[in-house]
Amino acid sequence: MSRPRLMIPGPIEFTDEVMAEMARPTPSHVDPAFIDIFGQALEDLRSVFLAGPDYQPFILAGSGTLAMDSAVANLIEPGDSVLVVDTGYFSQRMADIVRRYGGEVQLLSAAPGETIHPEQLRQALQSQQVDVVTITHVDTSTGVLADIQGLAAVAKQEGCLVIVDGVCAAAAEELRQEQWEIDVYLTASQKAIGTPPGLGLLVVSPLAMAKWLGRTHPVGSYYSDWGYWLPIMEAYEARKASYFATPAVNLVMALATSLRQILNEGMEQVFARHIRLSNAVKAGITAMGLGQVPTGLEHAAHTLTCPRYPEGIDASFLAFVREEGAILAGGLHPAIKSEYFRIGHMGAVSRADVLTALGAVESALRRAGYAIEPGISLTAAQAELK
Ligand code: PMP
Repeated sequence: MSRPRLMIPGPIEFTDEVMAEMARPTPSHVDPAFIDIFGQALEDLRSVFLAGPDYQPFILAGSGTLAMDSAVANLIEPGDSVLVVDTGYFSQRMADIVRRYGGEVQLLSAAPGETIHPEQLRQALQSQQVDVVTITHVDTSTGVLADIQGLAAVAKQEGCLVIVDGVCAAAAEELRQEQWEIDVYLTASQKAIGTPPGLGLLVVSPLAMAKWLGRTHPVGSYYSDWGYWLPIMEAYEARKASYFATPAVNLVMALATSLRQILNEGMEQVFARHIRLSNAVKAGITAMGLGQVPTGLEHAAHTLTCPRYPEGIDASFLAFVREEGAILAGGLHPAIKSEYFRIGHMGAVSRADVLTALGAVESALRRAGYAIEPGISLTAAQAELK
């Protein structure tokens, strides 16, 4: 492949089979063959999240932010008390959306690179009445992985509904939605789910659907209102024609293909592959003498790595990395933006991809004047890949 590999934390490289769906003639959204594809995608989305048949999936045309908007618009009523577990940029966005729909936000904030432990959440919840807790599974701005199992368990003990933003985590980080009692798990198509940007995806628990049904205020967003979307999702799953707003037909076909590929690999294998590749990247980064934004590897994401620039290097070196074969991203968290860069390694990513990225970083660092022994990161990475 002559073009550089796209290894930012989304969008990512997509498989040839997924891209082929984008090039097909667009069928009618009520074509029986398309209805079947949409229905299958809804069922497969539940399977990818490890949620049971009474969980309600939604596939919407829009980005991850729309999925966040959809969850909040439908589940938060004016005056609801919402605790946002804040591990970075996207937790702050969730807080903004909650405020927009009239929720009262309390932030439980971690310093950049730190996480929030379940015991910290328990203390926060015991000192005030809270209706809903939101958690960012992987905060893309810091590379911090939240312990959603532990946090959700505490939130449930305290009687709260749990919304998890899994945009940078779904189909890569371990997730057992039903077993872990996560009421809403939401994501977008363009990351580990493996489909070009343009779909917002949610799977909602029966408890959350009941809260939505019991609302006393109308949903404040027309497009996001589940009152319009629920009958559509139910119809597609029942293999019946329906219409509210035209679905992103080719993207849904691409999604169906991608979800099949993920399920064919198997969720346990998908989780394990992301851990293995992430360990390899992180070992390579450490071998080059670079630190990382997450303050401990036990709360570092497996979907991306956030290396700190060594002394004398800044974001301008990313142009060299691109010339050496990989497109990486700069920093995002406003407080530390100029101090680090980001390598995405999620979805249909392979050992060859991570070795390409590390090799490109090594060469680019040398070109930028940082002296390291050639191959040092590749040796460390391959020891992890075995
Ligand atoms: N949440 C997280 C954790 C994200 O990483 C992103 C996108 N980077 C979003 C939400 C927003 O998604 P989108 O850009 O698709 O609207």
